[in-house]
Formats: sequence, C-alpha cells, structure tokens
Amino acid sequence: MAVYSAESSQRLTPGRLLAATHNAGKVDELKALFEPHGFQVVSALELGLDEPEETEATFAGNALLKARAAMKATGLPALSDDSGLAVTALDGAPGIYSARWAGEPRDFYRAMQRVEAELAASGSADRSARFVCALAVVWPDGQEDVFEGEVEGTLVWPPRGTRGFGYDPVFVATGETITFGEMDPERKHAMSHRAVAVAKLRAALLT
Ligand code: IMP
Repeated sequence: MAVYSAESSQRLTPGRLLAATHNAGKVDELKALFEPHGFQVVSALELGLDEPEETEATFAGNALLKARAAMKATGLPALSDDSGLAVTALDGAPGIYSARWAGEPRDFYRAMQRVEAELAASGSADRSARFVCALAVVWPDGQEDVFEGEVEGTLVWPPRGTRGFGYDPVFVATGETITFGEMDPERKHAMSHRAVAVAKLRAALLT
C-alpha cells in the first residue's frame, strides 16, 4: 500500500469524484461532506458498477480494494469508505463484518440485536464501542492514499431514533446523551469517524 506522503501526494481538485460504495447512507454522508467543497459526487451505485467482494482483513485493506476496482472501471479518482462498529467486549466484532451481520437483504435491527445478544452472552458489563472508518483514494496513476478516523462511545438498548443508518440507533458518542440515530445529521457529520477521516483527507489532499 502506498501511504500518503506530503511530497508525493496529488491534490484533489473540485470536479467529479467517484464514491466507490453501494451503501446509500454512506453516499449521502460523502455527498454532504464533499459537495460544499465543489465536488460532484457520483456513486458506484448510480453508475451500476459491480460491488467487489471484501476479502481483506482490515478496514484499510477493504477500502483500498473497493477504490481500486472503481478507479479501474471508470478512470476517475475513486474514494471509498470501509467502516464498521468495533465492540470492546466482543474483541472488536462485528468490525469489518458490520454490514454482513445484517444478513441479506440487509436488516440492521437484526444486526443490532445480534450485538446485544452477544454482549449479554459475553457476561461483560463493558458496553464501550467505537465506529471506525478508513477512507481510501485511488488515483488514475495508481497512487493510493488511506485516512482513518474513529469515534468512541457506548452502546444502548433498545435502539433509539430513525436518522442515520446502520448501527446509529444504538450508539451514543462519548460526551453525548442521544444516539447517532436521534442526532441532527449535521451534528453527526461534525463528530463521526467518517468526519475525522474526511478531515484528515481534506487536510492532506484538498487545496
Ligand atoms: P461496509 O464498509 O460497506 O463493509 O459496511 C460498513 C457497515 O458498518 C455499514 O453497513 C454500517 O452497518 C456500519 N457503519 C459504518 N458507518 C456507520 C455509521 O456512521 N453509522 C452506523 N453504522 C455504520
């Protein structure tokens, strides 16, 4: 993996940016985060690109795999997000399997229930968890940059709120009292794992 270095990296200039994801919730968040900077975010879903199988063992590895496939298919700089929920008492599970715990078709209530059941079975009173996000940018010349962000918090049960997506209704960020599912999206976008990773990407790549 080529890791970002100030000398070698290209600058991302406003224009079309391919969001290499089929997750509508992530596309909405990436649009909200990049469009104010003059980018037109088009998604792999809108372009009908195939979704590659996530075969890597890390968030960064899977983010790169998705961005590489999308860049190869379109020739556009491709941005991908691999993210998930890591629960401390479950040794970081569901982690890179966060989407897969929702089954097919995706049912995140089921995924949240499984987290709750496994926490109960673990016997641990530790309800801490964190969301992790790896953002990868793969350039047409083959350069690859990865940025990671995290947000710490606590899991609640039952789920609360209908905003956001995925595990948002059971996650309360440290220092907050409401879940990401109850939170105004702008507020979530200012503190989330994705926002932290985007801030690093912006600092490194946006002119
Ligand atoms: P993947 O990166 O496409 O493999 O999927 C990551 C999964 O992690 C998503 O489908 C969500 O379930 C979960 N996830 C990632 N980011 C968030 C978030 O901001 N809120 C809630 N769930 C998330």
